[in-house]
Amino acid sequence: MLIDSHAHISDTKFNEDRQVIIDKAFNSGLKYIIEVGCEPQFWDKVVELSKQEKIYSMFGLHPQDADKFNDELLSKLKTLLSNKKCVGVGEIGLDYHFEGYLKDLQKEIFIKQINLALEINKPICIHCRDAYDDMIEIFKTFKQLPKGVIHCFSGSFEQAKEVLNMGFFIGIDGPCTYPKSSKLTKVIENVSLDKLLVETDCPYLAPQKYRGTRNEPSYVVEVAKKISEIKQIPFEEVCKVITRNTIELYKLED
Ligand SMILES: [Zn+2]
Repeated sequence: MLIDSHAHISDTKFNEDRQVIIDKAFNSGLKYIIEVGCEPQFWDKVVELSKQEKIYSMFGLHPQDADKFNDELLSKLKTLLSNKKCVGVGEIGLDYHFEGYLKDLQKEIFIKQINLALEINKPICIHCRDAYDDMIEIFKTFKQLPKGVIHCFSGSFEQAKEVLNMGFFIGIDGPCTYPKSSKLTKVIENVSLDKLLVETDCPYLAPQKYRGTRNEPSYVVEVAKKISEIKQIPFEEVCKVITRNTIELYKLED
């Protein structure tokens, strides 16, 4: 039984068949879905979705939206984070991928949200793209860090070791199934199963089998299969350990 620990089923790409996809996921054997609300325009929808029994939520401001941060948004965020189905702060972080990104502002808002997570004692889900060194530098400035996961990990094994030493989990997504994934394969090979989570990040990043189509929570099984293949650990064992990791990190009902 797996958990999709990172989904965006509030995305407009699910407007036509959202409940069908949710039902399909649970019928296929998923235990839970953690729905991530990181864009303010979707926050209300995420709250609605998390009223369903097996859907948890998470809220934060995505680095690409860093310029939207203000006092009003912060107070709304605090209210959302106090929801009993909300299990973490995320996704938050740094994204230097697209030209024109606001580096200093992204750092400032990331740090603010890490502090917020410490204040409310909830784990963080980190989005980091093309910014691993800066992320690690920021972590080093904290005497104490929240627990958390580097979602959709795309760094090197060296960088993985650094964040593992800081107590973080590594989130693995569809790209591990792509033919050109040797860097990620090395990470999966060398990181203990105890430190891995699986996620879809749907509707994006469909695994190889469904590549080019919309991703959905039930496809998380493809990620677990690939981990089982790479690490040569039986699939059932992979599911068991990773589900336990997710339950422990986010304090989900067992
Ligand atoms: Zn995401």
